[in-house]
Amino acid sequence: MSDTLQKFMFENSLVRGELVELSEAWRQVLNRRSYPAPVACMLGEMMSAAALLSANLKFNGSIILQIHGDGPVKLLVVECDAALQLRATTKLADDSSIADNARLQQLVNLNGQGRFAITLDPADKLPGQQPYQGIVALDGESVATVIENYMLRSEQLDTKLWLAADNIVARGLLLQKLPDQGGKTGSVQDTDTWNRAVTLASTVGDEELLSTDIMTLLRRLYWEEQVRVFEPRQPMFRCSCTREKVGNMLKMLGQGEVDEALADLGKLEITCDFCGQGYWFDPVDCAQLFATETLADAVQAPGKVQH
Ligand SMILES: [Zn+2]
Repeated sequence: MSDTLQKFMFENSLVRGELVELSEAWRQVLNRRSYPAPVACMLGEMMSAAALLSANLKFNGSIILQIHGDGPVKLLVVECDAALQLRATTKLADDSSIADNARLQQLVNLNGQGRFAITLDPADKLPGQQPYQGIVALDGESVATVIENYMLRSEQLDTKLWLAADNIVARGLLLQKLPDQGGKTGSVQDTDTWNRAVTLASTVGDEELLSTDIMTLLRRLYWEEQVRVFEPRQPMFRCSCTREKVGNMLKMLGQGEVDEALADLGKLEITCDFCGQGYWFDPVDCAQLFATETLADAVQAPGKVQH
C-alpha cells in the first residue's frame, strides 16, 4: 500500500474522476500528535479531499482547506501544494471533551457559527496580491457533503466525493462533471455517464473504501465503463515551515511584543503546529530581525548567524 493519486476520465464524456490513497503521509500526521478518533477521521478525510482538489488545479500554488469550528474543535487545516505535498493540523478547545461517535455538526458547528474555507495561494504572488479565499457556512453532515455543497455553489461544478479515514489509511474518490464549452453536443450522454458513475460510486461504503486499494476499487466500480487512466502521482507529507517564515511572523508581531516575551522567557521557542519543528530565537536573533530590512539576512540558520 503506497500513497497514490490516480486520475481517470470516462471516454467520450466530460466526466472525470480521481482516487487517492494516503498511508505514509497520513501516518506522518498521526505520529506527530494524538487526536480523538472522530477528529482524526475528519482530518484524514480533509487530507484526501485536499489532494483530490489540488490535483485538478491549473496553477502553481497551494490549496488550503480550513474548518473554523465553534464547538470542541476550533480548527482543522490541511494544505496541499501543486506537487501534492501535504500537511495538516487541528486545534481543540481547551476544555474539549469529544465522544467517540461525535459527528461533524457536534464537533465544529455546535452553535451554527462554524465556517468552511478554501484558499488558493499562488506560489509566485505579485506584490500586494492576496490569496483567493471562499468561505461558506458548514452546510452538511460530513466533510464530503460540505465540500460538494461548496463546489456547487461557489464554483458551479457538479462534484461528488466519497471520503474515509481510520488510523491506518485515508482514501477518497472524487467525480466531477465538467461544464461543456458552451455547446450542447454530448450533454445528454455526459449526464448519463455522470449519473451512472455516481450511482456506482454510491454503492461504496466507508468500510469498503477503507479496506480496498484504489486500483481494485476503480476496476470493481467501473469495469463495464470505458475509462482512461492517467499516470499515477505520489502525494507525500511535507511541511513548508522555515526559519525565515517564523522570523517573518515575529516581525509582524512587532518589536514591543517580542521584547516583552524575551524579557519573560530569555529566548523564544516557536514550534510549528504542523510538523513539530522548533525554532529558537535568542535576543541577538530578535534584534537582527528588527534591525535588517531584508528578512533573508536576518533569519539565517542559527549556526551561520554572526554574533
Ligand atoms: Zn513545520
